Amino acid sequence: MALFKTLDDTQSDKNPKKVDSEIEKIKCLIIGSGPAGYTAAIYASRANLNPVMYEGMEPGGQLTTTNDVENFPGYPEGITGPAMMEDLKTQAQRFGTDVRFGLATATDLSKRPFKVTVDGNKLIEAESLIIATGATARYLGLESEEKFKGQGVSACATCDGFFYKGKDVAVVGGGDTAAEEATYLAGICNKVYLIIRKDYMRASKVMVERVMKTPNIEVLFEHTTKEIVGDFSGVTGVVLKNKNGEEVKKDIHGFFVAIGHKPNSDIFADYLDTDEVGYIVTNTGSSKTKVDGVFACGDVMDPHYRQAVTAAGSGCMAAIDAERFLGAL
Ligand code: NDP
Repeated sequence: MALFKTLDDTQSDKNPKKVDSEIEKIKCLIIGSGPAGYTAAIYASRANLNPVMYEGMEPGGQLTTTNDVENFPGYPEGITGPAMMEDLKTQAQRFGTDVRFGLATATDLSKRPFKVTVDGNKLIEAESLIIATGATARYLGLESEEKFKGQGVSACATCDGFFYKGKDVAVVGGGDTAAEEATYLAGICNKVYLIIRKDYMRASKVMVERVMKTPNIEVLFEHTTKEIVGDFSGVTGVVLKNKNGEEVKKDIHGFFVAIGHKPNSDIFADYLDTDEVGYIVTNTGSSKTKVDGVFACGDVMDPHYRQAVTAAGSGCMAAIDAERFLGAL
């Protein structure tokens, strides 16, 4: 049996990786480098917890795929996602956070110090652990979708909807997120096409009713997306397929994918409570998980708000919770 839960147990059992014999001891380990992780790092370093942060697979997190962030307080002119993440990183480093490139690949949270393996071969023992690994938006997997990401294709209406004020847009998905995004966009845009692959919506009844009552939302049941089309200016349209296999073209400027998120919690799931989707469960009003000394913040524990500012706020909570935990030892 593998010692730790790993990203790919089968693989590691078959091909055990060499683990460095030297174990590094860390007071406060932060995994993940989105707004939650960096804010936790700023607070933890200012509290003398000597935090070490591993940035993970996508340094800077989901915001690095967003062009302009206009809703983060304190940036009256807006800022690009990557620039904002660089600012947060610089701020965390200014107070002494040791920011490292690397991916946590396995954990053992059964007792303290917590054991974390990085990149499959570096072993860390941490007195406290802040999990800020975020969530990954699911995309359809089309080549054209990838091509126009950040140029009309988005997975966050609250972040990017404003750029399509008065224009026509499409949302794909039939769950609560898609319903919320469609109604939010309907208040900003001229027209919203809601593309649903089945002949019904999976969203809650109240959300379905809200969608159906919104005059500028047109629901396209039993439609799938074949291709997103555009030019140098970004997205200009979408080609759909209806239930008879016929192609339907809609002129749009924004294409919002709302087919669910995957919280990046796999390597912690053996030790922490997660909901049915995989979001880490924390105590109400705190970042505490069911393991003393392990804290979760940001999108990995938040299925509801998923905003940079709420992630940052929960990162602050996690650092304060970690400081109090370590102070009481
Ligand atoms: P869901 O998993 O509930 O819904 C995903 C939707 O995307 C489904 O309609 C699914 O279709 C569709 N979909 C999945 N893959 C594809 C694909 N490849 N092509 C086309 N369509 C696809 O995700 P949500 O993000 O909507 O919600 C996640 C959870 O969060 C849910 O429990 C939801 O209730 C909750 N939530 C609650 C909110 C609230 O209470 N205010 C707000 C937002 C979310 P199909 O049905 O055919 O599988």
